Amino acid sequence: MAKKFDYDLITIGAGSGGLSVVERAASYGQRCAVAERGKIGGTCVNVGCVPKKIMWFGANLAHMIDDAAGYGFDLVNKGFDWSKLVAKREDYISGINSWYHAYLKELGVAEIDGEASFVDPHTIDVNGKHYSAKHIVIATGTRPSVPEISGVEHAITSDGFFSLERQPRRVVIAGSGYIAVELAGVLNALGSEVTLYLRKHHVLAEFDTLVSDTIFEEIAKSGIHVRTDIEITRVDRHADGLLSVQDTHGVGLEDLDQVIYAIGRDPDLGKLNLDNAGVAINQRGYIETDTFQCTSQPNIFALGDITGRAPLTPVAVAAGRRLADRLYDNQTDRHLDYRLIPTVVFSHPPVGAVGLTERQARAEYGDRVKIYQTRFTAMYNSISGHDVPTVMKLLCLDDEEKIIGCHLIGPAVDEMLQGFAVAIRMGACKKDFDDTVAIHPTSAEELVTMR
Ligand code: FAD
Ligand code: NDP
Repeated sequence: MAKKFDYDLITIGAGSGGLSVVERAASYGQRCAVAERGKIGGTCVNVGCVPKKIMWFGANLAHMIDDAAGYGFDLVNKGFDWSKLVAKREDYISGINSWYHAYLKELGVAEIDGEASFVDPHTIDVNGKHYSAKHIVIATGTRPSVPEISGVEHAITSDGFFSLERQPRRVVIAGSGYIAVELAGVLNALGSEVTLYLRKHHVLAEFDTLVSDTIFEEIAKSGIHVRTDIEITRVDRHADGLLSVQDTHGVGLEDLDQVIYAIGRDPDLGKLNLDNAGVAINQRGYIETDTFQCTSQPNIFALGDITGRAPLTPVAVAAGRRLADRLYDNQTDRHLDYRLIPTVVFSHPPVGAVGLTERQARAEYGDRVKIYQTRFTAMYNSISGHDVPTVMKLLCLDDEEKIIGCHLIGPAVDEMLQGFAVAIRMGACKKDFDDTVAIHPTSAEELVTMR
């Protein structure tokens, strides 16, 4: 067959989504290329999940050092070296970057370095050179939002957090979602003085209130200063290099090393020239996709954060793999089911959730929902003497008690949830949990012994 296009598939963006679709497509013998303007691996590897989790491990260790006395250890902690942890973290990330470059080479996937923009539905331009493909996947992710306030250029976002070479002594974090909660917990545990600015009176508003209320209490207990129903109105940098903020309460805060905004993320489609490709965006500014990741242009697909649906790494990866299965392996109905996606917030203690919240379940099913709930102190925490709660909630439907929601907070729930998510996805009912023999002594056993 005459070669009509340079490639069968080009992906714009070498993040979680882009890499997963070319990897799977190449395994089916497709000629693939991936265009990337930044570092291979995208947000997750370079300025997201991976460096965040390493900082979280460090923060966890700080908590465990505090716990050690309860177990009889008389430790002398000579301090914490931020730059040492950051150097190890960046080395680890470089290893992943190098591994990906080698892996793409092995798969025969071409890397195109630079910012891509559409010339027409089958052609992109990168640095003045044109590349064509039968299919193009847009997996360009999002960038951190910043508010339009005076002096916002002095503030940083999560991207800037991962560039900090020195530990900030005094920090303000604005935001109430995943990133604000995670970064506040990490910085606090590692010894920075943290003030959290919440524009309402909650954190993690999209989670079940049991979880969001409990984590709110834990944040306040942890030593993080929490200011509620308040917004920053301006940021100033002073001659000594330090920052100050003013706010809607007229209280303000001075002598700050960093102000971090973690208030959500926006699609970044400016330079893609979507008009040349005939790809429509929705009212929220994300690329409109259907169940099969199709855009308004038949040969162009979009997945991952740029579609505005469940912006999590495994979601982007799953959507990419399924799309390649459908396009290149004749699995004609293969698509990602966006329901029952498990998620974890790496707070202290961590939070895990899958399925409906109680509010959503009541709205949909009213009194047909039965709730099982427990709260206890894990054995580990009883001995350490630090009063960290473990809270678990199961939402069950009708007489068969099919589990439609599971909400957890407490040590180790981040590792606990994955297996339960499999069972819930398979349609598990409360009786299946009850019939499963517990593993003792664990916290997880409480999930199969609730009455
Ligand atoms: P991205 O990974 O953002 O990749 C998009 C890529 O496209 C980028 O590399 C970008 O440079 C490139 N690009 C954009 N435009 C162009 C263009 N025109 N030409 C060429 N290249 C372009 N998710 C989890 O599941 N667990 C976590 O613990 C977690 N922690 C997170 C922590 C933080 C601080 C952040 C910010 C996010 C976190 N996430 C986490 C979310 C996760 O990182 C994203 O959901 C995931 O990276 C989305 O993958 P993606 O492929 O859609 O986009
Ligand atoms: P989130 O969507 O989690 O939370 C942002 C929240 O900040 C908003 O919901 C809003 O909550 C609040 N907010 C919005 N504007 C302002 C403002 N001007 N001032 C103060 N607060 C404001 O966004 P994140 O940036 O934290 O994270 C982006 C996404 O990345 C997440 O949704 C998640 O999907 C992903 N992520 C996943 C992680 C994981 O899996 N562990 C970790 C980190 C990120 P409200 O109005 O209710 O106060």
